[in-house]
Amino acid sequence: MATIGIDFGTTNSVLAYWDSTGSQLINVDDLPVKWAPYGFDGVFPTVMAKDENERLTFGWEAKTKGVGTFNAVKRLFATQSDVALSNEGDAIDVEEVATMLFAEMRRRALANGVVADSAVVTVPANSKGRARHRTKICAGMAGFEVLALINEPTAAAMAYAQKHPDARRMLVFDWGGGTLDVTILRSVDGVFIEETSSGLPRSGGLDFDARLRKIVEESVPGLENLSPTERELLKNEIELAKIRLSSALETTIELPGGRSLRVTRARFEQEVMPLIEESRIPIERCLKELGVGAGSFDALVLVGGTCRIPAVQNFVKTLVGIEPDPSFNPMTAVGEGAAIAAAILSGELTTSDFFVSTEHALGTFVIDGPNTEGLNFSTLIPKGHKLPAKVSSTYFPAVRETESLNIQVVEGDPDADFGNQDFVVLKEWDVRLVEDYSDESTRSFNLQYEYDVDGILHILATDVETGTILLDDDVSYGIATDKRQMKKVADRAREAVETGTISSDAKVELSDPEAVKLLSQARNKVIPFLDDDEAAEIISLANALEKASGTEVEIARDALRRALAPHSYLF
Ligand code: ADP
Ligand code: MG
Repeated sequence: MATIGIDFGTTNSVLAYWDSTGSQLINVDDLPVKWAPYGFDGVFPTVMAKDENERLTFGWEAKTKGVGTFNAVKRLFATQSDVALSNEGDAIDVEEVATMLFAEMRRRALANGVVADSAVVTVPANSKGRARHRTKICAGMAGFEVLALINEPTAAAMAYAQKHPDARRMLVFDWGGGTLDVTILRSVDGVFIEETSSGLPRSGGLDFDARLRKIVEESVPGLENLSPTERELLKNEIELAKIRLSSALETTIELPGGRSLRVTRARFEQEVMPLIEESRIPIERCLKELGVGAGSFDALVLVGGTCRIPAVQNFVKTLVGIEPDPSFNPMTAVGEGAAIAAAILSGELTTSDFFVSTEHALGTFVIDGPNTEGLNFSTLIPKGHKLPAKVSSTYFPAVRETESLNIQVVEGDPDADFGNQDFVVLKEWDVRLVEDYSDESTRSFNLQYEYDVDGILHILATDVETGTILLDDDVSYGIATDKRQMKKVADRAREAVETGTISSDAKVELSDPEAVKLLSQARNKVIPFLDDDEAAEIISLANALEKASGTEVEIARDALRRALAPHSYLF
């Protein structure tokens, strides 16, 4: 039995466990010959594919097949989207796809002799409750007991510190497939505290691929009208050519119809320089926030596949004023760090310490406070509090004679200016108060938040005078907690992984390829990057298109196309 670390990435995932010599990668896939020379050992593409016969494939096979591909499901975790769409418009619940991916990784680890029953799973530093909770639930449904969710930069810093114990203050620069995250961490007694972070949520390897694709399209006409499979395969060819250009000065891209194109690194760099330049923004923001300059760090920790591009490395090391360790593997660092955290939490590794802390403050809205106009945020568990945390506070009903209370659990950043504060009501309840008070003036209740390392928040409200429990519930972050439904998803996902086929339950069977394309653009490429308000309109237009029939289809299609137009740079 082993406790493992899992980096569940948007593009690639990595599994690792700890033994006395360090983190060991768990080999869960065979690398295709074409990809093998480029440093993907231990890397499992977070991709699932379903063919016409409902047969499932995962990892490299799914990625390179080009048929029924479900990509980047993790991106949907942070959104209101409930369904993931394949490149051919097939829809499966986000939770189900993610659970199958976790379950398949677990099955393959087992096949390699690693019985992984519990795990530490990493999540992006800036991810809020909903994404965290969905990650935990999906890993759980796949059969992992999730010991903790830890932040990706913290995991990378732990892996780095294992090699360089003297590194006190690090700048972790993580540029993966879809996002760029910059985090500055300080180690205090071996434990990493995130001092500040900033990022570009819509910038990553996919954007580099898009630039290379532009070069290809400018030189080779007629690449617009490809089938979904041809498009997917071309996408892979372009990604691979980009990867080859990290080690070669020129390369040949194989194109559909037996054509090919030669591209030089110089031409590619010229095209992507504006993207690289933009990575300056989050780095400078972090430096400014801490009031430090370049050269204030003991280490520059490069994480994520995009950091393998030589021009990226050069740009970042010049800006930060420090040489990265060239032997540190940016693709596997997060998974390796998660394995260290897993070993500490399971008691296998006792020479290091580690704790998980809250990312955002957790509290409730109250009426009394400095802002007499509206609602005030009252903090129960502050940001950066060590977990597990158990905090309670006493409150009074705003209207003394009231019979019921509205209790809201709120996550956010109370230090930001009012108005710009980013608060999310995670859940709210109307609870009935006790009726027989000896004296109305003493009415008060105690609100307790208990937050585990596993990322679940338990709420308990008790009447102070009588001790009566008014509320006892968990916060589900707005995702379905219909336990029966979850059980069904878990059973289906595990069975699917066991048998390699999925019982057909596809929600949409769209025959109109244009509608499929628009829905895929909306759900996979645009919605994940919009604010909730902006996304709401597109989500409803996409839902309408999915349900449309007959003559409505054209109208629904046009409406969605118009709404997507301002965001076309995303696809
Ligand atoms: P994520 O954290 O999003 O899952 P990864 O850290 O695995 O992502 O990075 C994946 C991205 O890195 C992809 O866009 C991939 O094409 C890119 N990548 C991987 N290796 C290289 C390389 N040698 N040169 C350029 N890009 C690379
Ligand atoms: Mg990553």
